[in-house]
Amino acid sequence: MALPLTPHCASCQATTTSSNNPLLRCASCRVVFYCSSTHQQAHWPIHKSACTSIKKATKSLNREEADLRAAPGDFATPPGSQIFSGENVGHFWGILDTRGYMRARYALVEAILKIKTYAAVESAHDHVMDLLRLNASDNMGVRFMAPDLKLRLRDREAECYDFCKAWMRAYMDSTIEDFDSGAIRGGKEDVMENPKDTFGGESLQLGYTVAVTLIKVRLLLDVRALRDLRLAGLWKKTPPEIEELVKHNLVSTSVIAKRRDIMDGTAKGAVEDLEAQVSVLIKAVAKYNPSFWPILRSPGRHMKARPDYYSLKSLEEAQMQLQSSYDAWAETEGAFAVLDEMIGREANDAMRTRVFPRLE
Ligand SMILES: [Zn+2]
Ligand SMILES: [Zn+2]
Repeated sequence: MALPLTPHCASCQATTTSSNNPLLRCASCRVVFYCSSTHQQAHWPIHKSACTSIKKATKSLNREEADLRAAPGDFATPPGSQIFSGENVGHFWGILDTRGYMRARYALVEAILKIKTYAAVESAHDHVMDLLRLNASDNMGVRFMAPDLKLRLRDREAECYDFCKAWMRAYMDSTIEDFDSGAIRGGKEDVMENPKDTFGGESLQLGYTVAVTLIKVRLLLDVRALRDLRLAGLWKKTPPEIEELVKHNLVSTSVIAKRRDIMDGTAKGAVEDLEAQVSVLIKAVAKYNPSFWPILRSPGRHMKARPDYYSLKSLEEAQMQLQSSYDAWAETEGAFAVLDEMIGREANDAMRTRVFPRLE
C-alpha cells in the first residue's frame, strides 16, 4: 500500500487528535506524528532507536553547517558567509571544507529512512535533491537514491522519469562532470515513450532501469484498470460527470489522467504497448543482473546484507539495489503481480520455443 499522504498517529492510526485538531509532531525527528502524548509514550519503545539516531545526525549536521558558515576562508576556500550562494553552489565537492557537511547530511538521510512515513520519505528526498543542487557532479552518489524516493511520493512519476533519463544520458555521454541535476523538474520528457534505447540496452544502470520499470508498471496498471472498467460496460446509465469522477479515482498517475484519449478509451493499444515496454525492461534487467528480480520477490536476508564493495552485475549489486527499491515496489499495489505475470509469461514462451531433440 502507498504511504498515506496525510499523517497518521504512529500508535492508533488516527488522523486527528481526539478534539479534532491536527496531530502532534515528534519534535525530535519531525517525521512521526501522534494523536496524544499517551500514544507517543506507548510508541516510544518502538520509535526510540530511529528517533535518537535522527536527533544525533541532525545535531552533527547543524554543527558542521555552523562551522562551515563561520569559516573565515583562505586563498583556496571562499569564506563561510558566501559558501551557500553564488557560484559556489553546485561545486561543493571541490571546496574541501564542505565535505564534512555533506557527509553529515548524507548520514541524516540514512537515519531518516529508517522511518516509514510520508513525511520521512519527503524529508529524505528533499535532502538528496538539495545535495545534488549543492554538488552537481554528485561525488557521493546520492543520485542513486533519488528515483526510488520520488516513486514513494505522490505523483512524481513524470519527474522521476525525467531525472532517470537526464542522468542516464549524462552517463552515456560522459557529461556527469558538469551536470545540473538540480534543475530537473519533470514534465519535459514523454513518459509513455518506448524506453528501450535509453533504459533497455546492454550498458544500463540498474537503478534507473528498475525505477523506470516501476513507472511503466504503474502506467500499465492504470490503463488496465480503465480497460476493465470499459469492458464492464457500466456507463450507459451513468451521468458523464460521475463517469469522469470514477475514472479519475481509478488511475493513480497524473501521466494517464492527463491523457484524454486514454481516459475516454479512444487511444488504441495502450495496454499492449505498455505490456511490451514492461516486458522489454524486465528482460533487460534480468539479462544485466539475473539476481535482481528473484531477490525482489523473496528479499529475506538480502535486505540486511551490507557489502563493503560490489562489482557490477553481482549479487551484491542486486542486494544494494533491492534495499533502495523495495519499498517503492511494495508500496505500489499490484506491482508484484504484474512482475510475476510478466516473468511467468517469459518462462512459458521460453518453454514453448525450446527445441527438443528429435525422437526416434
Ligand atoms: Zn493515537
Ligand atoms: Zn521522533
